[in-house]
Amino acid sequence: KECTLAVIKPDTSEELREEITREIRAAGFTISQQKEMVFSRDMAEEFYKQHRDKPFFNQLLDYMCRGPCTMLILSKVNAVEEWRRRMGPADPSKAKETAPSSLRARFAKDILENTVHGSSNSQHAEEKIQLVFGEISSE
Ligand code: ATP
Ligand code: MG
Repeated sequence: KECTLAVIKPDTSEELREEITREIRAAGFTISQQKEMVFSRDMAEEFYKQHRDKPFFNQLLDYMCRGPCTMLILSKVNAVEEWRRRMGPADPSKAKETAPSSLRARFAKDILENTVHGSSNSQHAEEKIQLVFGEISSE
């Protein structure tokens, strides 16, 4: 089995958070750890360091630090790819065309405020899980 990090981003209602975690379980993922967390600016910068030079970097940090995120470690065969498929493309207008049943097609507001995050490969997954859950899992 493979692990990935899923994040339900800020400004998501309690109802929607529950709906998303229900769908995650129904899709056959095991949620091995889950917590609510508010990103500090420094931690969000580290989390999204791959995007440091993008024009939307500061907006992305503002958004991610605005309120609590739900952080989830998902485990399943092929979890990284499978979770990204369920999220759909970052831009919801594209998601509505190419993956209408995906989470972003249904729930994202726009390309920035797009409801969910998923690691893009297993190395990132390992790195981000360490960053977010590191202190907890070593307790
Ligand atoms: P994520 O990394 O959050 O799982 P992703 O891999 O589909 O999403 P990336 O290209 O890695 O998308 O972008 C990371 C995040 O930055 C997006 O999820 C979105 O919140 C934001 N973002 C991406 N492109 C833009 C853009 N053109 N304008 C504003 N925000 C953007
Ligand atoms: Mg990405």
